[in-house]
Amino acid sequence: MDRMNKERKAEEIVSQKRVKKEIETDKRVHFSVQGDTENHLVIFDKAKNAWSCDCRYFSLQSKECSHIFAAKMLK
Ligand SMILES: [Zn+2]
Repeated sequence: MDRMNKERKAEEIVSQKRVKKEIETDKRVHFSVQGDTENHLVIFDKAKNAWSCDCRYFSLQSKECSHIFAAKMLK
């Protein structure tokens, strides 16, 4: 998946309202994202200024996935 594809996918997720901000604390922001096949949890760590997602792509590649891109657009 290249960067353009991820951005296009993220725009689709946002326009279809499949991303939601769930909880915001002093340290973190939690988002839920409805993916193509399953739902994902995206977390923004404010202290580290770092994003993470529980999907396979992110855990294998450690690169920002379309779910993170979508959460960023919402934020
Ligand atoms: Zn993801």
